[in-house]
Amino acid sequence: VQERPLLLHNAAELVTVAGFFDPAAGDQMEELGIIQGGSVVCQGGEITFVGKSADVDGTVPDDYTVIDATGKVITPGLVDAHTHLVFAGSREDEFEQRVRGKTYLEIAEAGGGILRSVRQFREASSSDLLEGALSRLDRHLSWGVTTVESKSGYGLETSQEIRGLETIARASKAHCLDVVPTFLGAHEFPSEFRTDHDAYVQLLLDEMIPAVVESGLAEFCDVFCEEGVFTVDQSRVVLQKAAELGLGLKIHADEFSDLGGAKLAAELGARSADHLVRTSVESIEALAGSGCVAVLLPGTTFFLGHETYAPAREFIRRGVPVALATDNNPGSCMTECLPLMMTLGCIQMGMSPAEVLTAVTINGAHAVNRSHTIGSIEAGKQADLVVFDMPSYRYLPYHVAGGHVDTVVKRGAVVLDRSDRTDSQSGLT
Ligand SMILES: [Zn+2]
Repeated sequence: VQERPLLLHNAAELVTVAGFFDPAAGDQMEELGIIQGGSVVCQGGEITFVGKSADVDGTVPDDYTVIDATGKVITPGLVDAHTHLVFAGSREDEFEQRVRGKTYLEIAEAGGGILRSVRQFREASSSDLLEGALSRLDRHLSWGVTTVESKSGYGLETSQEIRGLETIARASKAHCLDVVPTFLGAHEFPSEFRTDHDAYVQLLLDEMIPAVVESGLAEFCDVFCEEGVFTVDQSRVVLQKAAELGLGLKIHADEFSDLGGAKLAAELGARSADHLVRTSVESIEALAGSGCVAVLLPGTTFFLGHETYAPAREFIRRGVPVALATDNNPGSCMTECLPLMMTLGCIQMGMSPAEVLTAVTINGAHAVNRSHTIGSIEAGKQADLVVFDMPSYRYLPYHVAGGHVDTVVKRGAVVLDRSDRTDSQSGLT
């Protein structure tokens, strides 16, 4: 870890996204708090100064490292609030079958889909699981992401789910990125419970959730509430149990049908409701004012070749804060590229460049309950920052998968340096 203070100096745009105690909603999503010609000072892992470059004199301690950001953009480290990072194997053969015309259901019936990933996960060694997660974190980092949420959900039995969560904890410890852990034992019904769904729900209530809480390995509990998976009533009892034992709540809701998952999220005070492709206006109104963040995953719609995207404008118009995330997983969206989600947010969901940046910074931070430490550039917050080699923040969604990351700072240390700076004293850690 780099101990020396850092000065990131003279950015064309210093995009602070500052001032949001609550998630940004409605018109607030346009308020990026940009400082033109801005500088940031980091010391002891925290941000100690944010302001105009002209005012930086006297704020920088001795023996600091300068990162010249002239002509570049500085943003908060990006937050990917929904991934399934810990999986084994891959499903590119199913990808090919899909593009050749097979449906997801046909592939699942032939032994593919989530349950194939479950078999692969159960057979994988713990070291392979960790290695896979770490390599994916490297890819997330390469896009300017400094915090990732990850779910378990490929074990679907108590000891295997704990193994998934342990892998998340190990990955978070071994990698410079932070991984926020979510228990998703209710991802699918394992084949052992194919004909008795209620028995699996009972196992979740009586054994899995208590064991997960006891282990201290999860901050959130999530449920895949969808036709053919967990019903609204099953989702409710699982989430209620999790809340009772102290976990935060998330829900995969209304991805393929307006089943009522979003309403359930509002009813239970969930931290986020995710997907929300088919959510009705009535359900959107229920979410508004509930404090729940709508985490939209346009990459999944894109990857599945579907035409209908989540109604982001309706969420924003009605005051529901929107975050964007990758949903990185081997079946329905195989990517770590969060900036691509910003592009899809603009093109397919009518969001503005400012709104999509808010969606992957402060609103992503709120969705993972980290807004007090990350998601914006403000004195006192953790120094998670990205320097992009581009003239304005609008470039990020505009240049499709453009890869403009120049430098990434995590907790005040340079963790990725692709600049051609020769005078910089900063190095890789
Ligand atoms: Zn998901």
